[in-house]
Amino acid sequence: MKRVSPLIIPVFLPHLGCQKRCIFCNQKMMAQAVPSPAHVRSFVEASCYQFPSGQARKKQVAFYGGSFTAIPEEDQRSYLKEIEPFLSSGKIDSIRISTRPDALEEEVLSLLKEYGVKTVEVGAQSMIDEVLFLSQRGHSAEETISATTRLKHWGFEVGIHLMIGLPGDSLDRFLKTLDQVIDLKPHFLRIHPTLVLKRAPLEALWREGNYTPLTLEEAIQWLKRGLLNLEGTSIPVARIGLQPAEELEVFYLAGPYHPSLHQLVDSEIYFDMGRHFLETYPDESEPRFFCHPKDVSTVRGQKNGNIQRLKEYLGVKAIFVQQRDDVPQGALLLQTATQEVLIQKSDIRYDKN
Ligand code: SF4
Repeated sequence: MKRVSPLIIPVFLPHLGCQKRCIFCNQKMMAQAVPSPAHVRSFVEASCYQFPSGQARKKQVAFYGGSFTAIPEEDQRSYLKEIEPFLSSGKIDSIRISTRPDALEEEVLSLLKEYGVKTVEVGAQSMIDEVLFLSQRGHSAEETISATTRLKHWGFEVGIHLMIGLPGDSLDRFLKTLDQVIDLKPHFLRIHPTLVLKRAPLEALWREGNYTPLTLEEAIQWLKRGLLNLEGTSIPVARIGLQPAEELEVFYLAGPYHPSLHQLVDSEIYFDMGRHFLETYPDESEPRFFCHPKDVSTVRGQKNGNIQRLKEYLGVKAIFVQQRDDVPQGALLLQTATQEVLIQKSDIRYDKN
């Protein structure tokens, strides 16, 4: 069953609870000041009025931008208490927080339960200790494993954040990270490419020539491999890449940023599916593909890029892509003179390297 994401009321607490700065981070670009608990209450109140009446989707207040459970206990209570009236009146269904894996001990989880927190997003970023060390995360992969296990034991919905292209990272390390995270069975994932942002510690390293971000093409290739490894796991990827925002445009210096990164990755997967087909059926001089109506633009690629590349790669004059309701989303169907052949993403395999 498709996971219906809740409507989120985002409350940003930039760097609140962070003892030090992770190398890639500049949360300050998202907001100027940390809002007080009273300010959070008025913000949530105002946000509730903006939801259309009769809205069936669940509503969640989300504390983002810092390490919520690393702030002093009384401050956590102060923020959470402000949400209580909204939970009791039914205006809000639950709370979500984001935090670090090393700030999720049993007593913290008990407090979160007490105040109606449902979802905890854990910034794991990598499961390779050297990458975590070089990124100045200050926690280990083992702490992500134990925190996720505890959270699931307590019945929280768990989201895990990963990053690609951190200092010391490689495709192989990313795929190993993903394998370990899949074993933890989180409820969803977010995967972000590392960007160099103004005033983040990484900026100096990059300016000195001691850090090279992934190119957009490399990021697409890594993410493509990652998404295909996730096929069949039923772990959804809630987001790939940072949300486009004015602040991001201002603070961005280098790295694989694209507002539609997820779609680029999906398009790349379709390109590989098309290529696989046409290598298997080389006699098709004008291949005709069918896909689900929702997939047409992704199959074609931005500015019909996939069609152009496939034509060049295979030396064919024309390639047709048409929609058909009976083709499942995510699949591609090739119609030949004598048969129809369906391929799923999970049918695509890559060499280990
Ligand atoms: S990435 Fe998270 S934990 Fe690290 S400094 Fe930024 S907000 Fe704090």
